[in-house]
Amino acid sequence: MSGTTDMILVNKDGKRIDGRTPDEHRDIKIEAGVLANADGSAYVEIGKNKVLAAVYGPRECHPRHLQDPTKAIIQCKYNMQTYSVSDRKRPGTDRRSVEISKITAEALEKVVLTELYPRASIDVYIEILQANAGTRCAGLTAASVALADAGIPMRDIVPAIAAGKADGYVLLDLNKEEDNFGQADVPMAIVPSTNEIVLLQMDGNMTREEFDKAIEMGVRGCHDVYKLQKEALLNRYSDGGDSDE
Ligand code: ADP
Repeated sequence: MSGTTDMILVNKDGKRIDGRTPDEHRDIKIEAGVLANADGSAYVEIGKNKVLAAVYGPRECHPRHLQDPTKAIIQCKYNMQTYSVSDRKRPGTDRRSVEISKITAEALEKVVLTELYPRASIDVYIEILQANAGTRCAGLTAASVALADAGIPMRDIVPAIAAGKADGYVLLDLNKEEDNFGQADVPMAIVPSTNEIVLLQMDGNMTREEFDKAIEMGVRGCHDVYKLQKEALLNRYSDGGDSDE
């Protein structure tokens, strides 16, 4: 997020380097139930991001001192594979992955009926196979489909997408160049049935008006992602049949 570059990120016709308009998200593909051995799973592509999520549980919580007698806890592990970025990523946990794991679990806690499973743990694993900006949103999008695929009772599914600012324009779903050289990145996630925001972060700077526009654009983008999440689950449970509601 340097905010400066000689590269033209949005041309005078309002087109971005990958040909999108400012309020257009990248191509999105979502598939539910891709892993045989997990209780639930999902695969998500958003542009060049490739993300896998797997869920186990509810099951007995380990380590036991983390058990909550009133509800299940959600333990999330976001991990970027070494080969997911162009410079080899040092394997293992770092500050960024701890942060993303925490905010992902907190967003999911808003929809999972954890009170049904005292002392249990619901374990969510997110693997970033290929990264191109927006992986926390792709990871959360995949994780909530994987939870639904595991049959875990939820109030709703959580879709996530980022908005931001590059070349002075408010944009939906920043790609890597826009994220690197733009002025702001605002990842968000919502509960679609209420429009409650369950994840909101901001890196960089924008005016209050630009921020309001980014939120509006992001919420609309989340509803697009939500439609695809539901289609993925319907495809999974209707033998590849009709994906309409
Ligand atoms: P997000 O992926 O959610 O947008 P960031 O804004 O922290 O999260 O990262 C933006 C992008 O920067 C990532 O999607 C990835 O392409 C790249 N990136 C992040 N961490 C690393 C790393 N350790 N090495 C190389 N590239 C990275």
